[in-house]
Amino acid sequence: MSQSVNKNHQDKTFFKVVDAPKQEPHVRINNFKEVVLGYTEEHALVEASKCLHCLNAQCVKGCPVGIDIPEFIKHLYHKDYDAAIAIIKEKNSLPAICGRVCPQEEQCQKFCILGQKDAPVSIGRLERYVADIEQEKGIKIPQIAPPNGKKVAVIGAGPAGLTVAADLAKLGYFVELFEALHTEGGVLVYGIPEFRLPKSIVKAEVDYIEKLGVKLTPNTLIGRLFTIDELLSKKGFEAVFIGTGAGLPKFLNIPGENLNGVYSANEFLIRVNLMKAYNFPKYKTPLGIGKKVVVIGGGNVALDSARSAKRLGTEKVYILYRRDKNEMPAREEEILNAEEEDIEFKFLAAPTKIIGDEQGHVKALEYINMELSQPDTSGRRKPIPIKNSETTMDVDTVIIAIGRTPNPIIQSTTKGLETTTGGIIVIDKKTGQTSLNAVYAGGDIATGEATVISAMASGKIAAQNIHQYLTNNSNNTP
Ligand code: FAD
Ligand code: SF4
Repeated sequence: MSQSVNKNHQDKTFFKVVDAPKQEPHVRINNFKEVVLGYTEEHALVEASKCLHCLNAQCVKGCPVGIDIPEFIKHLYHKDYDAAIAIIKEKNSLPAICGRVCPQEEQCQKFCILGQKDAPVSIGRLERYVADIEQEKGIKIPQIAPPNGKKVAVIGAGPAGLTVAADLAKLGYFVELFEALHTEGGVLVYGIPEFRLPKSIVKAEVDYIEKLGVKLTPNTLIGRLFTIDELLSKKGFEAVFIGTGAGLPKFLNIPGENLNGVYSANEFLIRVNLMKAYNFPKYKTPLGIGKKVVVIGGGNVALDSARSAKRLGTEKVYILYRRDKNEMPAREEEILNAEEEDIEFKFLAAPTKIIGDEQGHVKALEYINMELSQPDTSGRRKPIPIKNSETTMDVDTVIIAIGRTPNPIIQSTTKGLETTTGGIIVIDKKTGQTSLNAVYAGGDIATGEATVISAMASGKIAAQNIHQYLTNNSNNTP
């Protein structure tokens, strides 16, 4: 089934995972620079030498975009970094991003054959290593098909939209990428903090997509400036892809949510990361944050908020989560990072009331303790409140990170576009097509909040099917 490339495979200790160096916790809580520093060449070569180059590689099946993992690792092992990155980019236009934020432990690495007995190959770290080398040397532009004269509009420059734009540009389409914000990247720039994903890394990958020929049009809110119908009937686009994400925050609906000192994680992270509030007054966005902060939620968004608050110099940061640690949806690696940064977790606790002072500012949070039921039909254990267990904790800032829903602008201005009651656009999962002809969708707007790589995977499906649709359409034209 497999062949070894290294005699070290006989040595059992060899299979320990090679950790990437990180900034020390006491240093990193005082800055917004990247925490994980990435592999050195020595690290990367040792890690790459573990790969068995399986013929029927299970890791590839675990990769939502199907990168030929053994092949890229083989080139890396032979120090042919150009060939390694070329293999990755056949399937993934955002490798330096994915190498940093993809939940590899749930995807490719989970299926790595070595993981059955020892540690799997650190595929994500290796992907980041070759992508970073390419960024340092200057990103190469692959061969692009000659222009085919067809125009496609892509709405939303998050991972889904960027993927569709890149794939169609490579096939010779003229692609215009409309983005509501002043900069491209979606959650990659406005949500995920600099210390996990530097903006310069996102910018380099967006620049690459622009160099493929994609026209970037920021500061353009589709549904207001133009409707989908206008793009198709008046602006000369033959197909549209909607990748507008899930950017509206959910709230708790408990008393006190309107007090000063309560933030949605979206607003908090946008102020801190995108508007650089951590560098006020050099940048013009202020941020009022107190000394004791509690973040409500258990996902990546909650951890990013808590760790950002810590870096803003607060004395104490808590995370309050209604289930237990094993049930947290956040990446394991980031939970560990947060623990190292002295974030205190309060598990099995749900907020019931935010209490204010006479000036209308938060002074405390009341929460109730929870216990978990037996697993239900979905296999998940439901949190149930324990009667009369309400407790109060003194805090002056509350950040709510309990989920996000789609922004309704496009849905409400596009006649005939089928949506669920939650505003998610209904698509045919095999093709990405919506209820409307020539209109496709993917990413969080079509799945609900998910991951970077799942948004990219749905973008790839839509791009292939837009290509097929437009090819068939022109073949049918007399
Ligand atoms: P988005 O990234 O949301 O991009 C949508 C874009 O569309 C935005 O730029 C928006 O401004 C634009 N837009 C919206 N409406 C319009 C309009 N009407 N006209 C024009 N433009 C519009 N996933 C991971 O895999 N790993 C992680 O570590 C991780 N951490 C996360 C941390 C945070 C704080 C958050 C919020 C999410 C995180 N996620 C993570 C989830 C992941 O980022 C998303 O699933 C992914 O970005 C979805 O991609 P998308 O392209 O569908 O949408
Ligand atoms: Fe096999 Fe793991 Fe290498 Fe994939 S990464 S080819 S599963 S050893």
